[in-house]
Amino acid sequence: MLRHLLVLSLMLCTAAHAAAPQTLDDGVFWLPGSHAPGAQPDGNSVLLRGAQGWVLVDSGRHAAHTQALLDFMRAEGQGGAALALVNSHWHLDHLGGNALIRQQWPGLRVYASAAVDGALQGWLAAYRRQLEGLIEKPQDLDESSLSSARIDLALLQQAERLRPDERLSAPQQDLTLAGRKLRLGVIKGAVSGGDVWLLDLASQTLVAGDLVTLPVPFLDTACAGGWQAALATLAAQPFTRLVPGHGPVLSRQEFQHYRESYGRLLQCAASAQGPGACADQWLQDAAAWIAPAEQPRARAMLGYYFQQHLRAATRDRFCSAPP
Ligand SMILES: [Zn+2]
Repeated sequence: MLRHLLVLSLMLCTAAHAAAPQTLDDGVFWLPGSHAPGAQPDGNSVLLRGAQGWVLVDSGRHAAHTQALLDFMRAEGQGGAALALVNSHWHLDHLGGNALIRQQWPGLRVYASAAVDGALQGWLAAYRRQLEGLIEKPQDLDESSLSSARIDLALLQQAERLRPDERLSAPQQDLTLAGRKLRLGVIKGAVSGGDVWLLDLASQTLVAGDLVTLPVPFLDTACAGGWQAALATLAAQPFTRLVPGHGPVLSRQEFQHYRESYGRLLQCAASAQGPGACADQWLQDAAAWIAPAEQPRARAMLGYYFQQHLRAATRDRFCSAPP
């Protein structure tokens, strides 16, 4: 499966480069994650400016993404301030940049769920061995696959720098970080075994990590049914704007539509309908968020997830215990 994941994500890539973070609200900025041709993705990152410094949610994977976040915070004149980094989950497109930030920002405090520790010993350790095997036979890889493998392996060789300082576990807690009033929650058994969501109370911005992803739900390490329950948990929070792990910022109403569309996707997967018909329905439901040029890629991803996940005998493998 790991090899499939690597090959699939290499196959599906489009545009690349980290621009500067964009303003969403007073003291609220986001840096959209890129998904360049021949490269693995970066997740979206969110920056919140507080009286004592910064809160950053997710650090990206590629150095260009992470460096753009660091440059922005310094340019805004709070280079020596406190920095609290919250990782929504352990996937490398959301936490790989921790290593670079640790090097460049003394006093950094990283908050994440304990699932990071389990993943570093399990899923990510297996992925690291897979990458080492791939790199031993570079002649079997094209240039972009080799480059992607080297980037991820370099991150995993600094695994200790990816670990959090503080482990979050409460389903919901209020916390003030860098002077910013936040509500954070951890959901187990949804997308990664330990998904952290964060609500910025002042701007009513919910940072959802991969509990919301576009152009399709990224089911690689997910419990599909647990994910549906997690969307209900998010819906109970008083947000007006939601930043997903991948894809555009959504209004509350758009999130509601995403949630219903996800439910229809699971219903279709459980029915006798073919994967093509289910993909048609999803593409219709999510049409506002998927550019026409991106539709073939979204369809290919859904085909992959139907085969490897939604219709696989092992589809519930992430439902009982964290990966
Ligand atoms: Zn992601």
